[in-house]
Amino acid sequence: MITKFKKVDNTRRLVLVVDDEKVNRDMLGYILHKDYEVIYAENGKEALKVIKEKRQMLSLVLLDLLMPEMDGFTLLEQLKKDVQLRTIPVIVLTSEKPAEIKSLELGAADFITKPYDVPKVILARVRRIVELSEDKMMIKDTERDALTGLYNKQFFFKYAQHIDKYYKEKRMDCLVLNIDHFHLLNELYGRQFGDKVLKLVAENIKNYLVDIYGISCRVEADTFYLYCEHQEDYNPLIEQLMNGISAEIKSPKIHVRMGVYNRDDQKLGNERKFDQAKLACDRIRENFSTSIAFYDMELHRSMIYSERLINDIHEAVEQNQFMVYYQPVYSVTGTKPELKSAEALVRWKHPELGMLNPESFIPLFENNGLIQLVDYYVWEKAAKQVHSWKEKFGVQLPVSVNVSRIDIHDSGLKEKLLSILKENGLTTESLYLELTESAYGDNVEKHIRVVQELRDCGFKVEMDDFGSGYSSLNMLSRLPIDVLKLDMEFVSKIHKDAKSYRLVEIIMDIAGYLDVPVIAEGVEVEEQLKLVKKVGCKYVQGFYFSKPVPPSEFECLLQ
Ligand code: C2E
Ligand code: CA
Ligand code: CA
Repeated sequence: MITKFKKVDNTRRLVLVVDDEKVNRDMLGYILHKDYEVIYAENGKEALKVIKEKRQMLSLVLLDLLMPEMDGFTLLEQLKKDVQLRTIPVIVLTSEKPAEIKSLELGAADFITKPYDVPKVILARVRRIVELSEDKMMIKDTERDALTGLYNKQFFFKYAQHIDKYYKEKRMDCLVLNIDHFHLLNELYGRQFGDKVLKLVAENIKNYLVDIYGISCRVEADTFYLYCEHQEDYNPLIEQLMNGISAEIKSPKIHVRMGVYNRDDQKLGNERKFDQAKLACDRIRENFSTSIAFYDMELHRSMIYSERLINDIHEAVEQNQFMVYYQPVYSVTGTKPELKSAEALVRWKHPELGMLNPESFIPLFENNGLIQLVDYYVWEKAAKQVHSWKEKFGVQLPVSVNVSRIDIHDSGLKEKLLSILKENGLTTESLYLELTESAYGDNVEKHIRVVQELRDCGFKVEMDDFGSGYSSLNMLSRLPIDVLKLDMEFVSKIHKDAKSYRLVEIIMDIAGYLDVPVIAEGVEVEEQLKLVKKVGCKYVQGFYFSKPVPPSEFECLLQ
């Protein structure tokens, strides 16, 4: 974008008068000099030199057409070609009608006819053109993003609307571009580096849009929108971006991903279309092998489905639609397996969608915080269950409940758990807490503190899905835990090859180093059972013994 020195005060504007006849120069100078700073040139060539020199300050050029060296038309042509110069307004001085049309085509803003008779008219025209051009510059400034020179969001959507209205026959696509881990780049390499990346992305988007009809903007931070003519393939755009960036930045490798909404849907508004493209783009956030995602029917359906579940959750809690199933955990160190505890696992008996597995709603609710409603519900049910079994069978079987990452951030967590126990006449020995390994990921210090507090008041804390996360040994040694639950992935392969078995041995070594017992999860067949026992797992949970079952079925195991 051209940033031009813009006069917003009342200082005198600079006007260039170009005419080979001295009498004409003098006359215009005389008319203008009270209001304007006037400079002169005697032909096109001289004028071009002056314009280049003074372009930042120049408000207007008054241009004669017939001159030696370089005539007015040629000068107009030269100005039109140059992006830096073509915004300077030119008024043509002429006495011939046909010349007016030609100069208009070459970009002239207005005409003053010779001979100059009414100074007032000349002054009025000059003032009007100067004002108009300054207004235009002002608009130019506010329609653009200062860093990248792309449009800003408001202007972009206005422009897109304009395209829809006047180019109805054109099928347009909505693209959302995003830079992976941009905030990290900013943090690690500094804001200046971040800005450089943003500018490079913008520049390459602009280059792409030279050949393809479309507009673009930076909506916020590292998110770019493109509204462009429908393309079958957007790989060339991604390639151009990646190549363009890596030509300037060798390391670190910058990765750009893109979401596309390309459905020919006249009814959906542009803002919604871009929302959908953004959803597609977000879907490949952590997926380094894919750079382009389309908003398709599958995503559409899953969106609708998610919205539905979010809508229904409150009613589900009120109407007890959530069911808690129990899966036994056996101690396998003795000659015969012995029931040791159970894990509470939730299901949703939805009145219209049927029985839903936790996989279809837990991740969704973990993302928006609603998981707390479910967890709290399950903890209460589980505590009631332990109490009722105690009454009925005289045994107090401990039950493990799942605790989400989000629960850890709840400052009332400990009190909630304790009050649930109290209501049911239980102690912390009856409710074990399962936290997944990855839950420790983001804010380690806080997690350690919260978990330690829970253990201090007597809760046993189990680390779920151990081995699936990326905890360093150093971090593991600091985690306050009582039990490790070996991730099912490892167990499922343990009997398949020597390598998988060896891997489990290594994990067992770590557990040994941490000095905590291990529960093997997902044991389905006898071979697996034998091997997990061999490597030293003390406890086993899995279909080999029992699937998670409703309380009534579980009672058979208690009798
Ligand atoms: P998880 O905590 O790792 O629970 C174990 C999952 O493994 C359960 O799946 C269980 O049915 C399954 N499983 C157990 N043994 C076997 C086996 O031998 N073979 C196979 N293939 N699978 C086995 P489920 O019940 O579908 O639960 C899935 C996940 O949903 C749980 O994984 C847990 O992360 C989450 N979840 C379940 N209930 C709750 C809850 O109340 N709160 C929270 N926050 N998450 C829950
Ligand atoms: Ca669990
Ligand atoms: Ca698990």
